[in-house]
Order: sequence, then C-alpha cells, then structure tokens
Amino acid sequence: MKLFDVYPLYDIELVKAQGSRVWDKYGQEYVDLYGGHAVISIGHSHPYYVAKMTEQISRIGFYSNSIIISGQQELAEKLGRVSGYSDYTLFLTNSGAESNENALKLASFHTGRKKVVAFSKAFHGRTAGAVAVTDNRSIVAPINSTEHVTFLPFNQVDGLKEGITEEHAAVIVEGIQGVGGIQVASDTFLKALRARCDETGSQLILDSVQCGYGRSGQFFSHQFAGIHPDMMTTAKGMGNGFPMGGVLIAPHIKASYGLLGTTFGGNHLACAAGIAVLDVIEKENLIQNAAETGDYLIEHLHGISGVKEVRGRGLMIGIELEDAVGPIRDALLFKEHIFCGYAGKHTLRLLPSLAMDKALADRFLTSLQTVLTK
Ligand code: PLP
Repeated sequence: MKLFDVYPLYDIELVKAQGSRVWDKYGQEYVDLYGGHAVISIGHSHPYYVAKMTEQISRIGFYSNSIIISGQQELAEKLGRVSGYSDYTLFLTNSGAESNENALKLASFHTGRKKVVAFSKAFHGRTAGAVAVTDNRSIVAPINSTEHVTFLPFNQVDGLKEGITEEHAAVIVEGIQGVGGIQVASDTFLKALRARCDETGSQLILDSVQCGYGRSGQFFSHQFAGIHPDMMTTAKGMGNGFPMGGVLIAPHIKASYGLLGTTFGGNHLACAAGIAVLDVIEKENLIQNAAETGDYLIEHLHGISGVKEVRGRGLMIGIELEDAVGPIRDALLFKEHIFCGYAGKHTLRLLPSLAMDKALADRFLTSLQTVLTK
C-alpha cells in the first residue's frame, strides 16, 4: 500500500534529535528552529521527559476514561498553577483541531446557539467545526461549509458591535495568528472582543494551540492584554511531541456526564508527557527564556538587510522578507542546515524550542545574513 500523498516532502530523514539539534541518516547535523510545527517546547529528547515517559510505559501506557487516571488530576493542577488559571477546568484531547472542536461544541451547548464569529486569515484545524472557522476555502470540503460562521477582519475593532450579536455562541481567535503569518492580536482588539462577548453572552475562545504554552513569553499570549477568555485551547507544545491537547474551561461552563468524550484523550502516557513538559518549563524557567531570547532575536533581526518587517512575541517570530521566502528557506536548510518554517510567500516562521539560547540565536542571525546577501 502507498501513502495518501498529501504532504510535499523534503528529501531528509531524521534519525536523532537532542535539544534544538537534529541529525539525518547520513549524520548531518541541523539546528531546529521550527520544532516540527511548534511542537517541540522543552527540546527534543529531553532526558527528564524521556525518563518520565519510559517509566510510565514500563508500568501502564493506556487505559480508557472509565477508570481513575491520577496523572490527569496532577496535570490539571500543574497546568492551572503554571498558567494562572487554577479556577478553570481541563478537558483533555489529542490534537489542536479536536480541542477547538470541543470548545466550539461547549460554547454551543452552553448558549444554545449555533453561530460563530472567526477572523480573516484564521487557522483552527482541519476537522469539521475547526475547518469551518478557518479562513481558507481551499481546505473546506462541501460537507464542512456552513452558513453559521462569519469572518470579521482580524485586529479591527470597528464592526465588532454589529458583527457579534446575541445570536453567536462563540467568538474564536488566535492570540497570535500562526499560519496567517505571525500576526499579533492587539491588546485593544482582545479587550474589545472580551467586552463585546460580555455584552452578548457569546463565549470567547482563545485558540492557543500555537501561541500558548509559554511560546510568547507569557504562558498564554492573551495574558499580555490582561483578559480572561471563556475557553483556551492547547495542543502542540503541551506534549513535546506526544500527541495531546486540552481545553481550559471557565467555571461558569458546567460539565455533565457524557457531554464530551474521547477514547485516547488524557491517557497515562499523554499525562506523563504533559506533566514532564510543565516540570521542565518551571524548573528551567523556559517562559522567561522564551521572552529574553525572543527579544534578543527580534532586536537583531531588525538590522538585517533584506528583512522588511519582524512580527511576533517571544519565540513565535515572523520575518517578512523583501524576496520570496521559498529559496531563502531552502538555502537555510540545505546550505546553513537550519530548519525554519514559512507562512505565505514572504514570511519565514521561527517556532523553536523554548530552551533556545543566545548562541543559537547568533548562529541563525549570521546564517540569515549570509543567505540574504547572496
Ligand atoms: N489551531 C492553531 C492556531 C494551529 O496553528 C493549529 C495547527 O497548526 C491547529 C489549531 C490544529 O492543530 P492540530 O494540527 O494539532 O489539529
């Protein structure tokens, strides 16, 4: 059987990884500033994470949500404390799309409403509800296309009063748009969304799948604006490569048996991964490191010729280039041996491990300069 061919691939096979470095099967070393789509939060194969996962799988790897899995409670308590949301509850899922799917569902259950507001250039995932609130018609199948979703302009306060009404179950927004090109939601915009949701009873969902878990230099990027959403969705960095996600749910939204469910979400191994990630984030001060290394990178990127604009916060950085991004990303990968991401035609996207240090930042800055001056 062949694979269903949906991914354009680089001809590289990675066989080893450690921290912010990966090696291919020929022994070539690369610097990883992309973390496989923002997934590697604490660094590849972190020894504490490996030990925790190994110990867990040697005892029990999985059982369903019909028995007590004490790791779930431990994870929820740690996540509440580290994120500053101890009074919220946690529903565990397996991916970002599934987290958004459940958040949208909860908003609809809670309000009894069907309509949702999303924003231009939003990306929320590929499952039915998540893709319906994603602003990319080319990935929405006819079965997922719905008249219940309205897209408003991102970061524009004018029009929110008319656009968000008592008919809307939810407003879903990324604190920093990732796939949309690293566009930071302004504090004013997020505050205006909070205020309009309070007026209409619509539930405010902050999709923090890419910009959450410390990446921005705060646990959640919306914390710069000082707002409290009704729900936050997470995944990616939460498991440092183990597939897991979650919805953090404000206390006014009540649970009942059977309301939500999943076979795999919150299994023993996922909890071990999630706990190990939070332990390392705390012990190694990774959120502060993301803020400091991010500031350093952003400051120095501004001086490089060929760089038109630098956007982002912490270690979620978009570098808008004067030239097309494709050849520059390829040169970084094949000549300088650095993995980066991209968004659109001109933006390089950096989503490294939160443990990235200044020495690696310098290495990237030199390489980018080299590539841009050729
Ligand atoms: N939400 C955001 C902001 C994302 O960036 C992504 C993935 O890139 C998703 C949701 C979907 O996550 P997943 O691929 O884990 O379903």
